[in-house]
Amino acid sequence: MSDEKNLSGPHRVGLVKEVTSLANPIIKDIKALSQKKTRDETNTFMAEGLKLVIDALELGWTIRTLVYAKAAKGKPAVEQVALRTFATGGLVVEVSEKVLSSITRRDNPQMVVGIFEQQFTRLADIQPKATETYVALDRVRDPGNLGTIIRTADAAGASGVILIGDSTDPFSLETIRATMGSVFAMPVARASVEEFLRWKKGADVQVVATHLAGSVDYRTIDYRRKPVVLMMGNEQSGLPEDLATEADALARIPQQGRADSLNLAIATGVMLFEARRHLLDLG
Ligand code: SAM
Repeated sequence: MSDEKNLSGPHRVGLVKEVTSLANPIIKDIKALSQKKTRDETNTFMAEGLKLVIDALELGWTIRTLVYAKAAKGKPAVEQVALRTFATGGLVVEVSEKVLSSITRRDNPQMVVGIFEQQFTRLADIQPKATETYVALDRVRDPGNLGTIIRTADAAGASGVILIGDSTDPFSLETIRATMGSVFAMPVARASVEEFLRWKKGADVQVVATHLAGSVDYRTIDYRRKPVVLMMGNEQSGLPEDLATEADALARIPQQGRADSLNLAIATGVMLFEARRHLLDLG
């Protein structure tokens, strides 16, 4: 059931829909965003938490729906984001904790959830400049890995992430959670292998691919020579020939112990911070 009412008080924010029923169509539509098909059709995704929603709005992302728990009503920060949602024609919904738990599939849900429009960067618009670093991921499969990589790329000062081939969805709830908000700050582009290789020819970059059979120790590479694209292989099968042969260097992170390889997100983090160390000349 839903009805409309005016929020009163010092932060009068306008028309808010109140929803307590799980059968409400708005709630059903939001819950359907757990499926990639629905995210693609509506070009939207869900992000949880007031801080994330504020960050996203500040970075210019378009909010379609703001959902908040009854208990958060009247909080100045929540009223602020509600106002901003109204200002861009979005919907604001106040729900019970039961509804919020159901939307987020969590027992202790965040008080605020935002439904945003998806935003990809066009590969053609990525024109790397000196000292910039990008990450290119070959068919990344695991949402947790992708989210962690986006977060780490952000923290390492990288300029963007390029998804090559059939990748996991950067806008799935699991990926968004793992990015901890960095998805809003980090440009993400998509490309087929052919599109990536064509782009690489036109862009003045050095592609440093990581490979278990790499011939170069990752610490010895000159990351300052040209803008860097760190290319990382798929979790199961590693980097395929067609991408590996096009790389300017095949780097290896020397390992000890019994592990065959590093986890993809860990390997990406090691590479990102090594490139950063060189670029910032930290010795
Ligand atoms: N079985 C896969 C293989 O044979 O390549 C393992 C892939 S590994 C889990 C995922 C990716 O992380 C690799 O394709 C590579 O890009 C990177 N990686 C992991 N450990 C590495 C290492 N020690 N040196 C270089 N790259 C590494």
